[in-house]
Amino acid sequence: MDPIQQLVDGFAAFTRRRYREDGPFVRLVQQGQSPRIALIACSDSRVDPSLTLDCDPGDLFVVRNVAALVPPYQPDEAYHGTSAALEFAVRGLKVDHIIVMGHALCGGINTLVEGAPDEPQSFIGHWVRLADPALQRAKASCGHKDHDGLRRCCELESVRLSTQNLLTFPWIQERVEKGELQLHGWYFDMVAGQLLGLDRENDRFGVLTAND
Ligand SMILES: [Zn+2]
Repeated sequence: MDPIQQLVDGFAAFTRRRYREDGPFVRLVQQGQSPRIALIACSDSRVDPSLTLDCDPGDLFVVRNVAALVPPYQPDEAYHGTSAALEFAVRGLKVDHIIVMGHALCGGINTLVEGAPDEPQSFIGHWVRLADPALQRAKASCGHKDHDGLRRCCELESVRLSTQNLLTFPWIQERVEKGELQLHGWYFDMVAGQLLGLDRENDRFGVLTAND
């Protein structure tokens, strides 16, 4: 089927299912959104968080970019889409949680591991090099592994780095210190069908839930 027609048909199905007069979606339209969770995920077509985490409209305030990266706080004249979305989530919506969700087989992280192009006309190379500190850590701990092993290590380290970068935003750090906001580092292992979470106590990733 024509992929565009498929979307149009999908929208028709969505309105049939969700657009009932007393349904939750119509309430969201009338009353506005108040999600408790902001989530940063990769643009990869396989990792849509609303689908993988079984969420409904209104549950998640989602930011998606290449490799699910959070840049450090950098108030300058550049166009900071991810930082702008975080600002709205934290200062506007006052979410209680921010989740950074990386994933296995990430093309963005793979580009970094393979050596991201350093060309002014490529946005990808400049963007993924944000995670260069994660690559350096991965090389230190997993340098003996093959390419796939090093990439996985870098995927996990980039989640750790992005959660650390969240704390460079003063309005995030302030709310975390007050106990009003919690930060989480997650990793969707689509190969094993598992969700891993960074345990802040011991700074290690552990399985949050296994596929049964
Ligand atoms: Zn990815």
